[in-house]
Amino acid sequence: MDYEPVIGLEVHVQLKTNTKMFTRVPYQFGAEPNTLTNPVVMGLPGTLPVLNYAAIEQTVKVGLLFGANIAEVCKWDRKNYFYPDNPKNYQISQYDQPLCEGGEVEIELPGSARNVMGPHRMVKLTRAHLEEDVGKLTHFANDSLVDYNRAGVPLLEIVTEPDLFNAEEAVAFLNALRITLSNAGISDCDMEKGQMRCDANVSIRPKGASTLGNRNEMKNLNSVSGVKAAIDYEIKRQSKVLDSGGFVEQETRRWNAEKGYTVSMRSKENAQDYRYFPDPDLMPVQFLRDTIETLRQSLPEKPFDQQRRFMEEYHLPYTVTSVLCPSAELATFFETSVAVHSNPKAIANWMVNDLLRELSAAVEEGSLPLSESPISPEGLAELVKVVDEGLISNQIAKGVFSDMFASGKDPMSIIEAKGLQQNSNRDELESICQEVIDKNPKPVTQFKEGKLNAINSLKGQVMKATRGQANPSAVDEVLRNLLNN
Ligand code: ADP
Ligand code: MG
Repeated sequence: MDYEPVIGLEVHVQLKTNTKMFTRVPYQFGAEPNTLTNPVVMGLPGTLPVLNYAAIEQTVKVGLLFGANIAEVCKWDRKNYFYPDNPKNYQISQYDQPLCEGGEVEIELPGSARNVMGPHRMVKLTRAHLEEDVGKLTHFANDSLVDYNRAGVPLLEIVTEPDLFNAEEAVAFLNALRITLSNAGISDCDMEKGQMRCDANVSIRPKGASTLGNRNEMKNLNSVSGVKAAIDYEIKRQSKVLDSGGFVEQETRRWNAEKGYTVSMRSKENAQDYRYFPDPDLMPVQFLRDTIETLRQSLPEKPFDQQRRFMEEYHLPYTVTSVLCPSAELATFFETSVAVHSNPKAIANWMVNDLLRELSAAVEEGSLPLSESPISPEGLAELVKVVDEGLISNQIAKGVFSDMFASGKDPMSIIEAKGLQQNSNRDELESICQEVIDKNPKPVTQFKEGKLNAINSLKGQVMKATRGQANPSAVDEVLRNLLNN
């Protein structure tokens, strides 16, 4: 039988705030275990939570970015459960009055070729609400360790409608979310650091059916490739169950990333199992529409919008914009540079080909962040400008670029110190060209017999004789003059 998979994602994103959700303790990934806690985090009797306003602002921004409705009033609920990652035995969350409802996220599916923009479509969101993260358990053969550093970190849960129809779409959704949120400074969304985690709900139904099949939920997938593999596996598994006349139980399943299969953890819990009730220690939050408007003004351009603009306004190809736009830092560097000297194509090419290569070669592991680039946007603009003005050739510019990267100096001081200005002195150039013509009778004859390409080897000789400093178009002109007379 032919089945159609249906997927809904619940994505947890740690917000980039200075302190935790309900108390002023910072969080830092990789810190010594259990050093970033206090009595509120540990849920000791007599402690009281205090709201982190920055986390609320960030969440409203996410809602506005994706066109969600921002609640006029939202409230806080206790989700009760006993588990060692959660010292209070309840998690503060938002149950029936989340901060954001609805909205949609634009995704891009793989294109027909690497340099072609793929199809885009909108994926519907159900809601986005704020809660607090829980501690981290590490299990060993005979015991387990718990680290409460992560407990209480502001955690945004973004829930999609069952509106994704294969694993590639789920991957595209996660990528779009990561790029949009990290460019807006809301979260770094680094899955390796647990800043973004995903539960995938998967069901299948006969092609053309209008009702949904029973779903399975795979919890805490911690890499994009894991999400893809787990969904693909689960689609196959459920198809086999149905094909053999079986019934897909609604379950929570664990993805075994090493071995590549899912196993049942438990039958799916229901909301009533958590005995949600309004947290008596926290007041509901009411929003002034003015506050929301102010936040709306502060939103950055979304990456796909920016990419379309870069293609149209600067005539940049897809391959270049799809490197620049996913990174707010690169895109800003580019536009800062273009504002100084308007040659977007050359600036983008230097960035994508040369600057990124140098940055990634600059340090042993990983790469030098753009913010520490020895070449500034203004410096790069200056370099492109002197090439455009004919002061140095493109060839020479490559060397100047390397010097700029190594020394952090501006292009003009390097060009002057090394005397790299293009040799446009006609007499000198003519005598060099004449010398090259005299020494190379073969290409000269070929050129005169109509093999016009033969001039290239003469040009090469002239460039060599001038150590690349001659202006290529001047060389071309002088050689042709001499050869045709
Ligand atoms: P919870 O898992 O916490 O009970 P929800 O009932 O809100 O939460 O559903 C969680 C996710 O499961 C949502 O992303 C939703 O789109 C998705 N989902 C619900 N039903 C199905 C289904 N039949 N097939 C696939 N995904 C589904
Ligand atoms: Mg769930």
